[in-house]
Amino acid sequence: MREGTGRPVFSGVAIGKAYVYFPRQSELPASCGDSEIELKNFNAARETAREQLQALFEKTRREIGEEQAMILDVQIMMLDDLDFVESVQEMIAGGASAAQAAHETGDAFSAAFAAMDDEYMKARAVDVKDMARRLVDILCGGRSGFQMEEPGILIAEDLTPSETVQLPKDKILAFVTRQGSSNSHTAILARIMNIPSLVQAQIALSPEIDGKMMIVDGFEGRYYIEPDEETQAAMTEKRKRALEHKQALEQYRGKESVSKSGKKILLCANIGSADDVRYVLEGDAEGVGLMRSEFLYLGREDFPTEEELFEAYRSVVEQLKGRPLVIRTLDIGADKQCDYFGLEHEENPALGYRGIRICLTREDIFRPQMRAIYRAAAFGPVSAMFPMIISVDEVRRIKEFCKSIREGLVAEGIPCGKVDLGIMIETPAAAVISRELAKEVAFFSVGTNDLTQYTLAIDRQNAKLDAFYDPHHPAVMSLLKTIVESAHAEGIWAGICGELGADLTLTETFLEMGFDELSVSPGRILELRKKVCESEV
Ligand code: PEP
Ligand code: MG
Repeated sequence: MREGTGRPVFSGVAIGKAYVYFPRQSELPASCGDSEIELKNFNAARETAREQLQALFEKTRREIGEEQAMILDVQIMMLDDLDFVESVQEMIAGGASAAQAAHETGDAFSAAFAAMDDEYMKARAVDVKDMARRLVDILCGGRSGFQMEEPGILIAEDLTPSETVQLPKDKILAFVTRQGSSNSHTAILARIMNIPSLVQAQIALSPEIDGKMMIVDGFEGRYYIEPDEETQAAMTEKRKRALEHKQALEQYRGKESVSKSGKKILLCANIGSADDVRYVLEGDAEGVGLMRSEFLYLGREDFPTEEELFEAYRSVVEQLKGRPLVIRTLDIGADKQCDYFGLEHEENPALGYRGIRICLTREDIFRPQMRAIYRAAAFGPVSAMFPMIISVDEVRRIKEFCKSIREGLVAEGIPCGKVDLGIMIETPAAAVISRELAKEVAFFSVGTNDLTQYTLAIDRQNAKLDAFYDPHHPAVMSLLKTIVESAHAEGIWAGICGELGADLTLTETFLEMGFDELSVSPGRILELRKKVCESEV
């Protein structure tokens, strides 16, 4: 048995096979010397790629929509493109390995597409590159497609936001990463998915542990590889107790979240994609209090279109069947980077060009988001909120912009609905002027992750500062009190959507302060409701 530690970001016990994720090596393997074998490998890889793409096509069509799925259909057709196949065959005949030939042909074809005048053909450059990358991954035995034959524990150096959006979520029992912080995307995803996870784990990423039996203890921050019988028995027992605890919480399913003295609070969930609504329903959340829409921009090579955004939002609205949905507009920048935004390198990205600062200066990025949100609102209750606000002027500009968007849709005869506009309070500036801001908007949602970072001047991503990052700091508590008082003084509601909302040691404090809503990871809803119902406040 081998064991080690990591920083737990979600509790629970997972038992399953270890899947080590090795990002593909930059050195592609040379030919084995026999072009017949290389050719056979190439054809077999095409077949595997076809099966993967077909499965992905079905999933995308079901969960996101026909238009997005068609991109995959184009890639399936490219696998049989005669020019592409012949070019690879020629290179193999000339002594290249199948992986080298697929890689180089993919790059050459991609460059040729990119140089075309026709906009549609130009856009296919990304598809051919993606298709070739898949072939190379298959040929190299890499797992960047995250193929997992059966449920297991994913071990990685770290996972980028674009990798996390491509994960086969239904197969992952736990994450263990060598890097990452409790605010990294892997951690956020683990909390949404309700699975135990460790970051900063002391673990060697060796192929030799791939496929071995493994246990992750998210309560203690420990993992075991090939556990001995005693450990297995103890962990199985611990998992059983955790399941019993979960079972006991079931009595709170469908109940109102109301304290003993009758104080009612709405318990909503945080999500990143349409896919995550299943966790919202499983967790019995009363709505979605934060949809981090930037996840729709990650893991791709170009901006999503208005249609793609609309389809994703509509899918969430429809699945929620009348429960409220709050969509946060794009919060790219700082830790969440997308190459195609072409953002310049910044010395202080957390204090830089991010969130609403991008939207207010890039109408081309803001417009499709707001149009998609207004259009989705025709299908159920939708509110929009804006990140990183610091001034009343920003809010007025946003309101004016939204008004013009709505008027434009109406003039075009496109169905749209009413959208309440709220703001995130996550800068000390916004908290201090919250009374003025409250006069302008329909609600506040406090992003305590950033509010703590900016109040304490502590980088939330810096693992070295974890011991200093204290969201219970009296300065943060005092700002929370100010925010909720300002909101109520102006007759609007206030919620918390940062991680602090799920902190059970503060539930009574939040009830006392008068918060109207808490939005937390879907898996935390029932225990939070229990805490509210047992509270005397
Ligand atoms: C926050 O800052 O608390 C928040 C909810 O937003 P994010 O974590 O996405 O920055
Ligand atoms: Mg934030």
